[in-house]
Amino acid sequence: MNTLCPYCGVGCGIKIEGSKIKGDSSHPSSKGDVCKKPLYLIDALQKDRLKKPLFREHKSQKFREISWDEAFDILASKLKELMPDENYFYLSGQLLTEESYLINKFVKGFVGTNNIDANSRLCMASAVVAHKMAFGSDGPLGSYDDIDDSDLFVFAGSNAAITHPVVFKRVLKRKRAANAKIVVIDPVFTESAERADLFIQINAGTDTAFFNCVLGILSDADNEATEYAKSFTAEKTSNICGVPREQIEEFVSLFRGAKKAISFWCQGLNQSTNGVAKNLSLINLHIATGRLGKSGFPFSLTGQPNAMGGREVGYLSNGLPGYRDVRSETDRAFVQNLWNTPHPIRETQE
Ligand code: SF4
Repeated sequence: MNTLCPYCGVGCGIKIEGSKIKGDSSHPSSKGDVCKKPLYLIDALQKDRLKKPLFREHKSQKFREISWDEAFDILASKLKELMPDENYFYLSGQLLTEESYLINKFVKGFVGTNNIDANSRLCMASAVVAHKMAFGSDGPLGSYDDIDDSDLFVFAGSNAAITHPVVFKRVLKRKRAANAKIVVIDPVFTESAERADLFIQINAGTDTAFFNCVLGILSDADNEATEYAKSFTAEKTSNICGVPREQIEEFVSLFRGAKKAISFWCQGLNQSTNGVAKNLSLINLHIATGRLGKSGFPFSLTGQPNAMGGREVGYLSNGLPGYRDVRSETDRAFVQNLWNTPHPIRETQE
């Protein structure tokens, strides 16, 4: 059976053959590669898992096993009994894209509420908002294939060697083949840092200053944004970030000299009180230096396997398929026309 590894955002294709798991060479994200994590999937699946629905009317009661028919009847009657906004749905990044699409349609078009949210809010809200602010859409750029012709890889707030191992292995392969360089920017010396050509041990929470400084040095533009970035001189930034000036200069030189630079980031930039600013500072560096497309791009790594598929089909309270938004009249009208569901899509939650 061909399926997907459920453990991280790389979403590797796997084949289950009897009690063996191996990589699926036809899968585009991994091309047959896997890390250790899915190798124990069979054992995990054979533990005592729920096989039938369990139900209790009240917390004081014990759960009892019920049939699927009974479960559907109970669900249907509860949904009819409650007002639309009395229902709440929380989805997983483990769902397939098609499942995320269907549940979003069911909740917004049939239940009639925007009370739906998902893992993508918990992990990726900063990246979603930063992409929308920078590009007008939460559609990250690039693909894993771009790794194979890049010559600079920046990992900011990401220990991909452990969290996204198959991507990191592909980066290492490119490093071996083309002497590509790896830069890791992290307050902690991680397993990824062990393999880096340049490890920048930055003070926690100071990434925005660092990327602003690099942007200020590299950008020739003369406008309000670059003027602000230029106020982060190498000396000032070195003090803020706890990074020696020589390392800032080395990073600038690597970024300037690369033919194609991919900047990966993950929860180290996302999970922060100013996560959107951190995301934007790295995205802005790519925009201001023209590194979008063939010469590189910023690459947001997602935590759960299909957090990105869910974002594409809009399974968040404000989302609609194709990166559309419930707050846009045009977007609502477009999707309403397509879905033709009993409840008109609502603009807000109440
Ligand atoms: S890299 Fe991620 S998706 Fe791929 S096999 Fe490992 S845990 Fe699974």
